[in-house]
Amino acid sequence: MEKEKPVIGLPRAMLYYRYRVLWRAFFQELGIEVVVSPPTDREILERGMEAAIDEACLSLKLCLGHVRALIGRCDYILVPRVSNFGHHRSMCTRFEALPDLVRNVFRSSGQEFLSYDLDELQKKDEEAALVSLAPALGCTAKEAKRAYKAAKKAEQAQYKARVQRQEQLLKGEGIKILIAAHSYLIEDPYLGRTVTDYLEQAGVTVLRADLVDRDQALKKSRELSPTCKWEISQEILGGIVHYRDQVDGIILLSAFPCGPDAMVNEIITRRVKGKPMLTMVLDSQSGTAGVETRLESFIDIIRLKEGKL
Ligand code: SF4
Repeated sequence: MEKEKPVIGLPRAMLYYRYRVLWRAFFQELGIEVVVSPPTDREILERGMEAAIDEACLSLKLCLGHVRALIGRCDYILVPRVSNFGHHRSMCTRFEALPDLVRNVFRSSGQEFLSYDLDELQKKDEEAALVSLAPALGCTAKEAKRAYKAAKKAEQAQYKARVQRQEQLLKGEGIKILIAAHSYLIEDPYLGRTVTDYLEQAGVTVLRADLVDRDQALKKSRELSPTCKWEISQEILGGIVHYRDQVDGIILLSAFPCGPDAMVNEIITRRVKGKPMLTMVLDSQSGTAGVETRLESFIDIIRLKEGKL
């Protein structure tokens, strides 16, 4: 008798926003059902805050809230370890520690977790990492390999289309603001989306520094910092170099307290000149009123600078 396939839970946080197309397509190719935690709300955030230590960054707290929301709803919750993409291309250490941390925090829940190890310095690339899940998923390595290839193709096509759509936005009229942020912050409906929604309602075209040809961005990032070692920060730096002359202002949007952003935002404010810039740090207490007031003032500054106020 064929072994029943497991149901996989995906926490709607952190790496979900980078890998959701790849993961969903991979599991779909293998005929595996996926359940995603609901969009962030106050309760998910509060549950995450209860589970985390105070010093954890807001994104990590949120991730724990999403893991908690999936407990008991699936056979495995996917929490991979993504360490690096090669020399000088590291992820923030929170992504290395995540599987151990999650297992430890929820050790008495009875929930099972599924993890893979992406560590190119140890010759474990993305394909090998996902194929390593085959035994737990009840498929062969050959089937997992085939599913990975199809999923990667889907991911690349979708990402390319998103970048092209953003390039199209540059051709429009009106104020354009570039937001430099991690995808899991800017896309989260309870956090970053309050910022982008406000700007769009005010008639601003919002662009994202992280939505850029990633290989090109890594090269371009060296213009602002030849030594930055974090992969996502390098992509954002490269995105700023790519878009800065085509936008009216830049918002640096971070989660409190983010180690990489504390350093990288300092580099950006020192090295990108002649562009209105706003630094916003979101924490668990951020109310939308304060956020809206600051955004309103920032738009006024841009209009004033351009003689439109
Ligand atoms: S990069 Fe910053 S926000 Fe993201 S996980 Fe690391 S500390 Fe948290």
